[in-house]
Amino acid sequence: AAKAPLLSVRGVSAYYGSIRALKNVDVEVNEGEIVALIGANGAGKSTLMMTIFGQPQAREGTITFAGQDITRLPTHEIARLNLAQSPEGRRIFSRMTVRENLQMGAAVNGGKHFAEDLERMCTLFPRLRERIDQRGGTMSGGEQQMLAIARALMSRPRLLMLDEPSLGLAPLVVKQIFSTVRELNRTEGLTVFIVEQNAYHALKLAHRGYVMVTGAVTMSGTGQALLDDPQVKAAYLEGG
Ligand code: ATP
Repeated sequence: AAKAPLLSVRGVSAYYGSIRALKNVDVEVNEGEIVALIGANGAGKSTLMMTIFGQPQAREGTITFAGQDITRLPTHEIARLNLAQSPEGRRIFSRMTVRENLQMGAAVNGGKHFAEDLERMCTLFPRLRERIDQRGGTMSGGEQQMLAIARALMSRPRLLMLDEPSLGLAPLVVKQIFSTVRELNRTEGLTVFIVEQNAYHALKLAHRGYVMVTGAVTMSGTGQALLDDPQVKAAYLEGG
């Protein structure tokens, strides 16, 4: 029988007050996959990410992670599970140094393997090694994004969730970050769920993708199939 997905979102609806921001959303992420969710500004991509973390909580539907129903778990308990998030806007600890930020990431799993994982992150993102004692808030946008991803990886997550990692970054930096994610997937089998407005890069990276329009998933397929789809091209790839 097919293995159950690592993350499964089934029939999920979520609200801000009386506004239904997610409408009956179905998304699955299998172990070892990179899955992208694309969509325009305000489509609800970040809301789905946040709903997986319990804020806002799904009002309808079911969210399971690694076989556990997490739909009604409080956010702090979801944060203790083996899924790590690099949120939109990076939200690193700006007054802490790079090293201290990475320590916070490691603390989620008790700080075991800290030295080893710190070394790994510095190899993956050499810029972080150069800036290890610099305060996070004084780093460039691209450096902060790398730090946010590295911090998430320090917990050795089974699922890495990335919210708009390309936001505000120069194309070269975006390429670097995406190629690092691809490498982690290929060499370590890291499972990744990525939310992106930059549809071209996200679909190039992903094995599978979903398109979200005003809170509902309207299309899904392999990354390549979506890249080739005339509707996707017209709506998200023209001029990109
Ligand atoms: P972007 O790419 O611009 O970040 P998105 O696809 O991530 O967009 P969301 O941030 O999930 O979109 O927003 C979905 C809808 O929910 C938008 O209409 C937004 O205005 C609304 N929304 C988001 N957060 C809140 C909130 N805290 N209270 C009320 N409405 C909200």
